[in-house]
Amino acid sequence: ATPTALLVGTGRGAGLGILIKGPQVLESTRRVDTIVIDKTGTITDGRMALARLAALDGEDEADVLRLAGAAENGSEHPIAAAIVDAARGRDEELPPAEAFESMQGFGVQAVVDGHLVLVGRLPWLVGHWQVPVTDEAARLHHDQEQAGLTSVAVAWDGRLRGLIAIGDTVKPTSAAAVRRLRALGLHPVLLTGDNAGVARAVADLVGIDDVIAGALPADKADVVRRLQGDGRVVAMVGDGVNDAIALATADLGIAMGTGTDVAIEASDITLVHGDLQTAVDAIRLARRTLGTIK
Ligand code: ADP
Ligand code: MG
Repeated sequence: ATPTALLVGTGRGAGLGILIKGPQVLESTRRVDTIVIDKTGTITDGRMALARLAALDGEDEADVLRLAGAAENGSEHPIAAAIVDAARGRDEELPPAEAFESMQGFGVQAVVDGHLVLVGRLPWLVGHWQVPVTDEAARLHHDQEQAGLTSVAVAWDGRLRGLIAIGDTVKPTSAAAVRRLRALGLHPVLLTGDNAGVARAVADLVGIDDVIAGALPADKADVVRRLQGDGRVVAMVGDGVNDAIALATADLGIAMGTGTDVAIEASDITLVHGDLQTAVDAIRLARRTLGTIK
């Protein structure tokens, strides 16, 4: 294609809500044969909400929610927003948190009311913080995940105090977008840091067979590299801080415009409206501009 055609192509993209970093991006877009798609915030709307709340160890639910909400207040993760919203629904004023730290893909820690509060995935609390888990708690956690929910553990002063189950909804356009990707000959892979139960449930809803769950940010980039090692040309679509390395590693990084700045900076294309359908439009546009399809 001529430089003019490429510029016209990127200009058309802008009109469709597809921001392309430079005309050269269209070439890698055209060659993509595999598309790795993040779950939370990409296939789902990422607006999570509290679905169930269980207090453990003789605590009461209000305290679990209040301390978890205070600890999550400094996090920009959709799970944090859901917990903070629910906590504020009960107590306008959350206690202040000190020494807040966020562990990407695991959870958060902070000191609230003099307690060291941990909120995050249960294996992190157990493996990293040596928090003991009773059979009852393990069963409850398993039940929440089987129900297709993300089960977040809350501990303070070294003991597990509660489990908060968070639910999210699939964007109405995601299933159609996956169908169109397949029709263009692309192989979709769902890649998430969330648990396998939730990942499988979402994959079934949108029609993806290939699912990789429980992936930490560095694992996400490894998945992309492994596919590239198999000779595939890989696009990665994501929205989170945890997707940034994978977005930069992929042959084509596509960020949701509704996502974090880090994801957008790491990507070649930004989908302004955060809709997977426009990722399909971008691939069609590249193929059309470079003369592969009419
Ligand atoms: P995804 O890959 O689907 O976008 P993430 O990598 O962001 O998911 O998160 C993976 C898992 O890590 C979550 O399902 C949750 O269990 C845990 N987690 C991450 N951040 C937080 C947080 N701020 N609060 C509680 N749990 C968290
Ligand atoms: Mg995400």
